[in-house]
Amino acid sequence: MQIVSGIAEIRVFRQSRGGVTLGLVPTMGYLHEGHLELVRRARRENDLVAVSIFVNPTQFAPTEDLSRYPRDLERDFALLSGESVDIVFVPDDREMYPSGFQSTVLIKGVTQPLEGARRPTHFEGVATVVAKLFNIFQPDRAYFGQKDAQQSVVIRQMVRDLNFNLEVIVCPTVREADGLALSSRNKYLTAEQRAAATALYRALMAARHLWDSGQRGADKLRAAMLGVLTAEPLARVDYVSTANPASLQEWEGEIPAAEGVLLSMAVFFDKTRLIDNFLLTSTESE
Ligand code: AMP
Repeated sequence: MQIVSGIAEIRVFRQSRGGVTLGLVPTMGYLHEGHLELVRRARRENDLVAVSIFVNPTQFAPTEDLSRYPRDLERDFALLSGESVDIVFVPDDREMYPSGFQSTVLIKGVTQPLEGARRPTHFEGVATVVAKLFNIFQPDRAYFGQKDAQQSVVIRQMVRDLNFNLEVIVCPTVREADGLALSSRNKYLTAEQRAAATALYRALMAARHLWDSGQRGADKLRAAMLGVLTAEPLARVDYVSTANPASLQEWEGEIPAAEGVLLSMAVFFDKTRLIDNFLLTSTESE
């Protein structure tokens, strides 16, 4: 497994191997089974697998957790080596954003609600860094997690709008045995907060149970999620949402079953902000 920090080295790697497919898994490191599932899928579907590890400063607001975001590159390299990854890209900030950097990718509609409403500069940072990674690697396929549902919708929109010649593949959310979605940020939780954090999954399950029994009222589904979350004293709800999975606009009234619903939420445990979601359609759940 090659470990490189320069864009020029990625270009050499790519150009020296013509006529083969490459799958890219962009990450911010501190890897867990959720990331590794993306890597395994990429391994199955491509000749070459590349993973990027870059804690992208432009997707964090000044008030957010950039400086304390967990990092452990040696552990990450060992995990990736165990998955037969071909190349790991670990640029520093100056490699990605050299002095004089002036360009961004701004996506309109789908970046506005949900996470975008609470983190107004977040998706501009995400889209810009992912566009750069796509240009650097020229992957055939890029792998993202359903855990960050809106991010996947945003990336798909960008790929469509800007004609990136690749396939976006979204993989299911990997969870702990008690339902908590794996996240590098789970490390911030105290033992008590960790126990309380199952409230997100329990809230999603409550709404899913209603949906499965035929409930289509958006307000009823939101109330079910809020009921579970507000019963948890350590949880502070940022938002709960029942949105159109394609446009991400909030459903009001009866949800057309054929279009489905993205149940999603962000919840604070002290300063730690966790997100989770279920994608429900008339035929399948999540
Ligand atoms: P991050 O390092 O948090 O930026 O995540 C890198 C990629 O892994 C993103 O596409 C995430 O959606 C995905 N990911 C993070 N957590 C999970 C999870 N629990 N299950 C599946 N994918 C995940």
